[in-house]
Amino acid sequence: MKKKVSVLKTERFRTLILIRMSVPLMFGPFFFFFFHSYRLHTPLSLERSITPTNKLSHLFSSESSCPFLLISRPSPLLPLPLPPPSRKVAVIGAGATGLVAARELRREGHQVVVFERNNRVGGTWVYDPRTESDPLGRDPLRSIVHTSLYDSLRTNLPRESMGFRDYPFVVVKEEGKQRDPRRFPGHREVCCYLSDFAHHFGIIGLIRFETEVLRVGLNHENKKWVVGSRRIGGGGDDEKVEVFDAVVVCIGHYSEPRLARFPGIDLWPRKQIHSHNYRVPDPFRDQVVVLIGSSASAQDISRDISGVAKEVHIASRSSSDSTPIRLPGYDNMWLHSMIESTHEDGRVIFQDGSSVYADVILHCTGYEFHFPFLDTNNIVRVEDNRVGPLYQHVFPPTLAPWLSFIGLTWKVIPFPLCELQSKWVAGVLSGRIPLPTQEDMMSSVSTFYSKLEAAGIPKHYTHNISDYQVNMASNGVKACHSEYASIYTAVKMDVLIMCFQFEYVDWLASQSGFPVTEEWRKQMYFANGKNRDARPETYRDEWNDEDLILQAQQQFIQFLP
Ligand SMILES: Cc1cc2nc3c(=O)[nH]c(=O)nc-3n(C[C@H](O)[C@H](O)[C@H](O)COP(=O)(O)OP(=O)(O)OC[C@H]3O[C@@H](n4cnc5c(N)ncnc54)[C@H](O)[C@@H]3O)c2cc1C
Repeated sequence: MKKKVSVLKTERFRTLILIRMSVPLMFGPFFFFFFHSYRLHTPLSLERSITPTNKLSHLFSSESSCPFLLISRPSPLLPLPLPPPSRKVAVIGAGATGLVAARELRREGHQVVVFERNNRVGGTWVYDPRTESDPLGRDPLRSIVHTSLYDSLRTNLPRESMGFRDYPFVVVKEEGKQRDPRRFPGHREVCCYLSDFAHHFGIIGLIRFETEVLRVGLNHENKKWVVGSRRIGGGGDDEKVEVFDAVVVCIGHYSEPRLARFPGIDLWPRKQIHSHNYRVPDPFRDQVVVLIGSSASAQDISRDISGVAKEVHIASRSSSDSTPIRLPGYDNMWLHSMIESTHEDGRVIFQDGSSVYADVILHCTGYEFHFPFLDTNNIVRVEDNRVGPLYQHVFPPTLAPWLSFIGLTWKVIPFPLCELQSKWVAGVLSGRIPLPTQEDMMSSVSTFYSKLEAAGIPKHYTHNISDYQVNMASNGVKACHSEYASIYTAVKMDVLIMCFQFEYVDWLASQSGFPVTEEWRKQMYFANGKNRDARPETYRDEWNDEDLILQAQQQFIQFLP
């Protein structure tokens, strides 16, 4: 029903465009036929959503600036349908998100300029052995190192599920180059994959490397965006100012450290570091380390340093009451509850009553959203790590569609999700995909926030659309996201682990007329989660979902040369 409405709206919009374009009188007699031909030959959202992925991919594989004209052509005797309006769009960032955004925008016929601070593509996947001058990241004037990757990092998602939908992350054989064939490859392989993607789709030529965006602001008179940027390294300090119809922000959200706070931390005299600045275990040799956190990075890093450190004490909010416990398989690693306080003599006291004299506190406590260049007159704000107000995590209602954010959601499979967000943004910018009114978008955002609040879910969980951990005792689950309440992956103790990401992704797919998430990809995501819980040490090398790998590979064949 919803789809039908959106199709009707699309048609009405097209009719309007046609009238606005004031088709010259000489075309008058053709008008009826022209309109019909446009309807018959231009793929509507609904038609594209039922088109098999392979057909789409085939049609899109040769990079045209306007794929619509490729899909099917009206009779040569009739005038060609007018392409959707082309916008001048600035994309900020050339990580996975910026690359796929640039591809989708260009496919839709927009003029794209990608600004990238680094000298190569890949974003956070470009490993950098350097770390920042302030190991906690508190100094706003510190030299910025974008990546948070550590040397030993391997993906925590299987490569089949991780890749873009029509450019699978398969094993590559390249002459003269060592490529990583593992199912959970190291970070260098992901970086190579992104570089392959950028070259394959001709994105490199759209990117201005070593160019940092310093400010983005709206010119209220002409409603255009003013983008100020600066060439880094040898290009001079002069700011270049340009005007764009739209700005798409793709700068990632794993660079600005978020720190844990507890009594005494400011007076604690010893070394503190955030995981953003962790690269290799060596500096922790023979040290007593307190590591705060329980995320995927915290787990990797604690194992990494346990090989060289004297003792590793993990302080985790989600640990049970029976701590401290020595972790099985290790003689120098303990799990504790959260830190109660720290003291000037170097002591760290945990809530479970235990304490240690530590040499280092390592904060694996996550990151803040941070858009230092963005001036929206306070329309878009970051409050307790909620970027808002944003309709469906992408568009600020009053600035839509001219400002958008891609890649803010977390605990997801980022590449294919960002691919669909990009398709949505590109289609909305050309007018092919309608958006609700500003009022309707704002009211949808308010309802979403109210549901989160009613369920007791903190603001900083707003963009976490998977693995929601909701305490069932709070009885909040049904109030929040009631439309998704049937989706859950596991119940652990009294905590319901919920996952909404595929509902969200499939909603995005319906907007842009793209097929919904493949069943094998969903099942692989859950299978990997279960395997990781069951074999935290070895899940990257042992698994039981061969049948899903086979299904994925069968689908991938059509995308390979
Ligand atoms: C430790 C770690 C492990 C991860 N593991 C996985 C995994 O296994 N699988 C997975 O799928 N995802 C993983 N991720 C998530 C990862 O962030 C995404 O896969 C993806 O890289 C996000 O891409 P992005 O383009 O949104 O952001 P980024 O990759 O961060 O790219 C943003 C780009 O914007 C540029 N930029 C920023 N500010 C400016 C500016 N002012 N001007 C110009 N350019 C600018 C940066 O230089 C950067 O190139 C992991 C993340 C981390 C931190």
